[in-house]
Amino acid sequence: MTDRFLLLFSLLLSLLVALTGCGDTTGEPGANGGEGAGTVNVYSHRHYEADQQLFERFTAETGIEVKVVKAKADQLIERLKTEGADSPADILITADAGRLVRARAEGLLQTVDSAVLAEAIPASYRDPEGHWFGLTVRARVVVVAKDKVDPSEIGTYAGLADPKWKGRIAVRSSSNIYNQSLLAALIANDGREAAQAWAAGVLANMARDPKGNDRDQVKAVAAGEADLAIVNTYYIGLLLGSDDAAQREAGEAVVVTFPTMTGGGTHVNISGAGVTKHAPHRDNAVRLLEFMVSQEAQKTFAESNYEYPVRTDVEPSALLKGWGDWTPDALNLSQLGENNAEAVKVFDEVGWR
Ligand code: FE
Repeated sequence: MTDRFLLLFSLLLSLLVALTGCGDTTGEPGANGGEGAGTVNVYSHRHYEADQQLFERFTAETGIEVKVVKAKADQLIERLKTEGADSPADILITADAGRLVRARAEGLLQTVDSAVLAEAIPASYRDPEGHWFGLTVRARVVVVAKDKVDPSEIGTYAGLADPKWKGRIAVRSSSNIYNQSLLAALIANDGREAAQAWAAGVLANMARDPKGNDRDQVKAVAAGEADLAIVNTYYIGLLLGSDDAAQREAGEAVVVTFPTMTGGGTHVNISGAGVTKHAPHRDNAVRLLEFMVSQEAQKTFAESNYEYPVRTDVEPSALLKGWGDWTPDALNLSQLGENNAEAVKVFDEVGWR
């Protein structure tokens, strides 16, 4: 009697699982994305191993499965728009605050009121209304050729427009979001006119036409084609930690300096995340975000991906500490998104392609 009851019970249970999609084990969030409390669906522009490690740890701790779709931020934003209320996505992760501001402006994110997030993340690294939150910090800095340029010669970003750098600067194209965000910050800090003069001055000082990615700019300095490069901090870490000797040599050829905004600090950006407007697993999404800013997770980011923790009570890795102390600019990063269109226009006006 008891056995038959158990059999019936387990049959009913499996039927229930099949109906609700809890048993869904595919790697892609699909049609079943809206069901089941044991899942969180992430749309991510980040492609680093550290993230996967963290998701696995989150699953081990909570039992919540993390399903990730990776693509470029603009593609993910388009996808969210197309999917609308049917989107399986719970979280959007990008590698730039500007894209998160854009996602918010498109109405794709919802507000999250979390004391854990507010306490862990300094105010300048999150949306004032809680639509998105910074998870890691990177600075856009200047690296200089060892023995060729005295690091003390790099003072402000504005100084890069000085004619003394003529023919000496390597920097990528203006279509790149990191450059757009740097110019957006300069517009916020110095005004449009000064920012335009800056862009024209840097363009005039370029060692070559903009090409390649951040790593390629460092390689250009290592190869003697330029004396300094504008680059995100973690790329120096990635070069130094590379398996490829040529990449390590490029990293070793330069010294990291931290230029500042006039009257401010060094330009920073974040990788960050927001909970999507129609998140089917909202609670799990908030839980994952809170996990990602925990001290433990922040240490993983700091150690494995050469990024600065967003928390001020977690130390950066030894390598990053070795580059010295610096002060991040206090600008709220939502300004990077708000000034993005203007920055693109200014680049266009001065002819920085
Ligand atoms: Fe990057």
